[in-house]
Amino acid sequence: MNQNSIWNDFLEHINQKVSYVSYATWFKPLELLKITDNDLIIKNPGKVVVDQLTSYYKDIMEEALEEVTGNHLNIQFKDEKDFIDETNNSVMSPPKVDNYMLDDEEALKFKSNIREDYTFDNFVVGESNRYAFQSCLEVAQNPGKVFNPLFLYGKSGLGKTHLMHAIGNYIQQHSNLRVLYIQCDDFVTDFIKMSKNTGSVEENLKYIELFKHKYRDIDVLIIDDIQFLANATASRQEFTNTFSSLYNNEKQIIICSDRSVDDLKMFEDRLKTRFNWGLKAIVNIPDYDLKVKIIKNKIKTEELMLNLTDDVIGFIASNSGSDVRNLEGMVRRLVFWKAMMHLNTITIDDAREALDEYTTSIGTYYDNSINKIKNVVAEYYELKVDDLNGKKRSKEIANARMIAMYLCRILTDETYPRIGLEFGGRDHSTVIHAYEKISEDLKTDQNLDNQISEIKKKMGE
Ligand code: ADP
Ligand code: MG
Repeated sequence: MNQNSIWNDFLEHINQKVSYVSYATWFKPLELLKITDNDLIIKNPGKVVVDQLTSYYKDIMEEALEEVTGNHLNIQFKDEKDFIDETNNSVMSPPKVDNYMLDDEEALKFKSNIREDYTFDNFVVGESNRYAFQSCLEVAQNPGKVFNPLFLYGKSGLGKTHLMHAIGNYIQQHSNLRVLYIQCDDFVTDFIKMSKNTGSVEENLKYIELFKHKYRDIDVLIIDDIQFLANATASRQEFTNTFSSLYNNEKQIIICSDRSVDDLKMFEDRLKTRFNWGLKAIVNIPDYDLKVKIIKNKIKTEELMLNLTDDVIGFIASNSGSDVRNLEGMVRRLVFWKAMMHLNTITIDDAREALDEYTTSIGTYYDNSINKIKNVVAEYYELKVDDLNGKKRSKEIANARMIAMYLCRILTDETYPRIGLEFGGRDHSTVIHAYEKISEDLKTDQNLDNQISEIKKKMGE
């Protein structure tokens, strides 16, 4: 059975075990990343949804998986980017050698990867994203002609990926141009596959051709989360070549990043200069009014129509932090709550109760930067922040450092590579190790559990 049919069977089993509303609210939107011999890896749907699934549906999910596969699999949620990053570093099981070539050829075939549900029409515009929105629209209307490249940047969860797909959709609807949307890590994966000299000379040449065809015989290249090229020097060089080839042929390039061009520290000037050739547009954090508009838009279009009073909408807007994903998760939670409690309308008290866990955790922790966590942890263990960043390996320091990394992972939206960079430029595998070690220790070490609770409490002060 291939991955997709296991996944579909799994969802079907769940559908039979839970109510329609629960299924539609929590399971239907999930996306599969990968199934290995031991793990089912689901694309991280955001903290709110993950909490809900792990608190209330873990047993049901494991049972369904066992029914479908006959095995016990661990269910994991990973950000797409961390996930692919890890596979490149062989954290997960490598591809099976016997069907390796076939998969490669398949992977290099052309697909635009554009998501039809991310359009300009359903993107809500406010002060914080107006400039970016207009720039994207302009590029969509004149691909290759006005701003090349378009460099879109801003924090996670602010709608960058949505805007990029919107450009792709628009171009596809209004022209016959070939559009390719790609996650930066998929580019790296394809590049690695191409450069592995595993086959005959002929075969290797064929892959090089396939790779070039995929990335150069197109009219519009949309590449997401370019910051992840930081760890991949050879791929970055190949990307520079791809960029030049497209640029010289007046093909549109759209790039997105979680930081500005200047902050792409590991990137060669040669590439950064190119990013500066076109237009740079920042997406800022949404203000209260924009969040209200987004919520109103979402509840109108949710599969399950939801009516909310203005004070409930205001409550969500004030408590959702800056990541629009949280806001979507909270709306979904209310849909679920309403059905579960058989409510006709949701009062502000209902909302407070339904969203209790999230408003406290998001409100308290969401805006904590890595620095704040480092400060509180250092203070708690009577160390200096520099100790956490530095190379000292005394048991005490190493332990505090791991705890700080663990907290960064669970309390912020930052990715493993980013956290590693912030802790004195450590590799992301060190952060993964810290996170896994502390998670494991927490299962048995009550003392550690208390310490972490106290640190979290201090952060809420
Ligand atoms: P980023 O790529 O910047 O991390 P995404 O594009 O993935 O963010 O956005 C996260 C979620 O929030 C998506 O479901 C997206 O549709 C939604 N979203 C973000 N901003 C808006 C907006 N202005 N209007 C409507 N939906 C939005
Ligand atoms: Mg994105």
